[in-house]
Amino acid sequence: MNCPRCKTVLKADKIKDFKARFEVDYCTSCGGTWFDKNELSQIEHVIEPTLLEIRKVPTKTKQQEPLCCPCCNNLQYLQKAEHPRDKKVIIDYCPSCKGIWLDKGELAAIQKENWLITIGKIFKWLVGED
Ligand SMILES: [Zn+2]
Ligand SMILES: [Zn+2]
Repeated sequence: MNCPRCKTVLKADKIKDFKARFEVDYCTSCGGTWFDKNELSQIEHVIEPTLLEIRKVPTKTKQQEPLCCPCCNNLQYLQKAEHPRDKKVIIDYCPSCKGIWLDKGELAAIQKENWLITIGKIFKWLVGED
């Protein structure tokens, strides 16, 4: 799988949290990270139900250049979603395979508040579960 932004081959990387451990695909060149749906499913159970109010999350925006999904053979454009708390953070997600791409600074911004919970919220929103 290649980086949607700079086309570098993505490298598998393990993320550890006190509650979960799973793999993501990481770009050593631009620092972006890809989370696919299966990876996100594994952390679902550690997400607090009270924090899943995310229906109002994203409106699409064209602030940034369009990226193609690295998981869908670059046939599917990623859609843009604003982070609910920080409008400067634009998350790219795939409407087809439900993967999420975060650029380097975006992951750092999310980590400030607890990226695991945030990613979980986004995931729940993408799969349309209550
Ligand atoms: Zn890259
Ligand atoms: Zn995809």
